[in-house]
Amino acid sequence: MTAASRVLVLNSGSSSVKYQLIEMTDASRLASGLVERIGERDCPDHATALARIADELAHRGLGVDSPGLAAIGHRVVHGGSRFTAPTLITDEVLDAVRELVPLAPLHNPANITGIEVARKLRPDLPQVAVFDTAFHTTMPESAARYAIDTETADRYAVRRYGFHGTSHQYVSRRVARLLGKSPEAVNVIVLHLGNGASASAVAGGVCVDTSMGLTPLEGLVMGTRSGDLDPAVLLHLHRVGGLSVDEIDTLLNRRSGMLGLCGDNDMREVGRRVAEGDPEAKLAFDIYIHRLRKYIGGYYAVLGRVDAIAFTAGVGENAADVREAAVAGLEALGIDLDPALNSVRSAEPRVVSRADSRVAVAVVPTDEELEIAQQAFGLVGKAE
Ligand code: ADP
Repeated sequence: MTAASRVLVLNSGSSSVKYQLIEMTDASRLASGLVERIGERDCPDHATALARIADELAHRGLGVDSPGLAAIGHRVVHGGSRFTAPTLITDEVLDAVRELVPLAPLHNPANITGIEVARKLRPDLPQVAVFDTAFHTTMPESAARYAIDTETADRYAVRRYGFHGTSHQYVSRRVARLLGKSPEAVNVIVLHLGNGASASAVAGGVCVDTSMGLTPLEGLVMGTRSGDLDPAVLLHLHRVGGLSVDEIDTLLNRRSGMLGLCGDNDMREVGRRVAEGDPEAKLAFDIYIHRLRKYIGGYYAVLGRVDAIAFTAGVGENAADVREAAVAGLEALGIDLDPALNSVRSAEPRVVSRADSRVAVAVVPTDEELEIAQQAFGLVGKAE
């Protein structure tokens, strides 16, 4: 029998399940796909969705009962303060993830359902939870605490957890490799700019600050989320505007950010409108960039010495105009973008700053599925 060297990665959302089957010897994707519209007539629940994925894999000779499958890796959004590393799933672990539902009411329940269904499918196979928050659990208390009454904060588990951790971890390591250095030797600012967006400060491979907080709402301007604002805005909207808690939640998470500012949350469309001279889109773009630059400057000060700034995710990987505006005029900080390199389109990790730039500016396509697979595989290997 050949050694089990494949990992199935599952990302279970409330209405969809994304999957990738990865061969770990060469990181190749043997299969990948997406089952959408879970909850509708064609696909009433997660069990149906997973059965469909299992059928699809079996059809291609890659069934989940194949001896080549070493583990299933599950993306789990919130691991609270407890889960600091990938974790082998047991009943007890699943209970602990359930206890964290109040911190991630939209995400953890779907992740849990995905795990439950997958465990029924292959009860004998190691299944590993990889948490979006885990990479950020190394943040010092000075960065993780909000300046509110400590007893209240502790009672309600109010602190900064951060998200997108799997991506920040992958990209901070990958950019070190791109520079020919070990992760321990470099300080990196990672800018994960997708529809959701977050920044992190990574010192020698260890996360020391990140822009998302108790929830993914804090920090950068995003597609539909406001990011940072004066918390009293919520009180004002409630007291003066008469908005309910749920209305404010929807406003800040779904109707704000680029969408709220200019009516478009897709940066391609915003860029097109800016090029046409649309003032509303231009102001939205400027607000997005202003916030981003504040975080770059802030994390520069947090780190003291910066070796690289890495752009990733849909906007970071593709929007040359965003990258250019984010670091424009920062030569005095040793950040010197090469406009020609920056405008080249490529799917490869690459440096886009001038050769003599003290801080390397890089574009590093993220690969959260590979990171989840590697972490799951690493854990299963260790357990044997
Ligand atoms: P998610 O947070 O949903 O995982 P992604 O990382 O896939 O998001 O990023 C999606 C976003 O990337 C889109 O909303 C769009 O704004 C942006 N994007 C994708 N391609 C481009 C492009 N060529 N230029 C500018 N923005 C892009």
